[in-house]
Amino acid sequence: MNTIYLDHAATTRVLPEAAQAALRVMTEDYGNPSSLHHLGVRAAKEVADHRATVAAALGCKADEVYFTSCGTEGNNWAIQLAVHHGRHRGKHIVTTAVEHAAVLEPCKALEQQGYEVTYLYPDATGHIRPEALEEALRPDTVLVSMMLVNNETGFIQPVAEAARLLKRKKSNALLHCDAVQGFLKVPFTVKSLGADLITVSGHKIGAVKGIGALYVSPRLHPMIPMIRGGGQEKTMRSGTEATPQIAAFATACALGHKALTEHMEYLSGLKTYALEQLRARVPGLVVVSEGDAPHILAISLPGHPSQVVVRYLSDRGICVSSGSACHKGKASHVYAAMNLSKPVRDGMLRISLGPSNTRAELDTLAEALLAATRELVSAGR
Ligand code: PLP
Repeated sequence: MNTIYLDHAATTRVLPEAAQAALRVMTEDYGNPSSLHHLGVRAAKEVADHRATVAAALGCKADEVYFTSCGTEGNNWAIQLAVHHGRHRGKHIVTTAVEHAAVLEPCKALEQQGYEVTYLYPDATGHIRPEALEEALRPDTVLVSMMLVNNETGFIQPVAEAARLLKRKKSNALLHCDAVQGFLKVPFTVKSLGADLITVSGHKIGAVKGIGALYVSPRLHPMIPMIRGGGQEKTMRSGTEATPQIAAFATACALGHKALTEHMEYLSGLKTYALEQLRARVPGLVVVSEGDAPHILAISLPGHPSQVVVRYLSDRGICVSSGSACHKGKASHVYAAMNLSKPVRDGMLRISLGPSNTRAELDTLAEALLAATRELVSAGR
């Protein structure tokens, strides 16, 4: 059975070039970047080059990029850095109700420590209104954390507007952006976003799992270390550099950066095609979000529980998701925040596309969904 993989927001297949780069580092250039011999020196030079490649994809300086193990770590670290930076100014944070758990959970932990967190809700179109942020800002706000692309709806949130608003209001709050789903999917640079902290993750862009990066603005210096030890990552995150993962990540960044416009055009066309086919061929299907980002759309088959349909499709080789992979099938806070009716919420499916997908695969998806509506007993009946 062929696999039709339509779950690229959960993770991606590793690009052959990225896998090759990791393999070469594992088997040839395997030195420890801290070692003084020639293998170590070569490894250190490679890490420096890779950091510069990641920085180029983000549009920042190499020394503003810190390697992390994943997007979750980047978000946790960013929030810690921001609250430490603002510790003498206040204990108020603004974020959104539709952030990933890797932002919401650290915020919850801070609430336990006496921080107050304001959660902004999306409007009827799924977007956070900049006016809502303006209303929420206070003199003691130390951090605003707003994602770029929502992982469950594909909506792009107004991060650049948030940055401009903070400036206009002369707020001292730092702006963090979880750009895990936006990186190399929609165009942005550190400058165009205007955020002080930006999180990205390797496994969403064709690199291996276990690597990500955090952009940190010089405004945050002096920083506190995330992990103390041998002094790697300019003493901020000790631990021997994950050189194979870093090599794969930089390779995926370089390829993704070069192909960004081409990929965006291809994925937008593919999504338009998917929407046409699904609407025309699957009666009762509700399009919940066409998304703004080219790779994510959210649909629902009201009356057919997501988990049942995900399994039905999986049995036919088609991988989609019922929302964020991290929920493992639990009810989504994002769809709850959008005020959808229960039958629509219960039937949610997220389709997330990658450059390797084809129209023929989307035809197969539409046929399988039509068959699902006929073969599966509707929960409502
Ligand atoms: N932020 C968003 C928006 C995500 O979609 C994800 C992963 O799904 C993460 C953060 C966490 O990234 P990672 O899986 O690299 O920890």
